[in-house]
Amino acid sequence: MKKHKKVIFLDIDGVLNTGGSNHIHGHGTAMDKKCVEVLRKIVEEFNAVIVISSAWRIGPGILRIKKGLSWVGWDNPPIIGKTPNLNLLKERRGKEIQHWLSHNPTESYIIIEDEPCDLLKEQFPFLVQPSSTDGLQEKHLQQIRNMWK
Ligand SMILES: [Mg+2]
Repeated sequence: MKKHKKVIFLDIDGVLNTGGSNHIHGHGTAMDKKCVEVLRKIVEEFNAVIVISSAWRIGPGILRIKKGLSWVGWDNPPIIGKTPNLNLLKERRGKEIQHWLSHNPTESYIIIEDEPCDLLKEQFPFLVQPSSTDGLQEKHLQQIRNMWK
């Protein structure tokens, strides 16, 4: 199996959208163009791929996420999959990420998540945590440069 070099586990609400003025609705999705542009820079600078860990993967689905990103100007983002829906009461998102990693050889990963309360303790060194009100910002790109240098 091909080993992924750099994987981004991506949350969406509070990361790629906020209650702010740059909110754009399209195709039943909401994305903040500025936050999406930061994510695109991260992906391009590190040649990273995206795995969706957001609940959007269950509700709106990957196709709607791609449509939302396209709506704010990013066609063909490298979304290679999504974490499984394990439907656990505790440490849900963390265990879903752990499950994906155990089935997909990966060299290094980060988790972009505004509400990391259900990640596993050992995943916190790989966490990038935007504030839910601002979403992903340039400062996070700098943080990721330090993590992935
Ligand atoms: Mg969120």
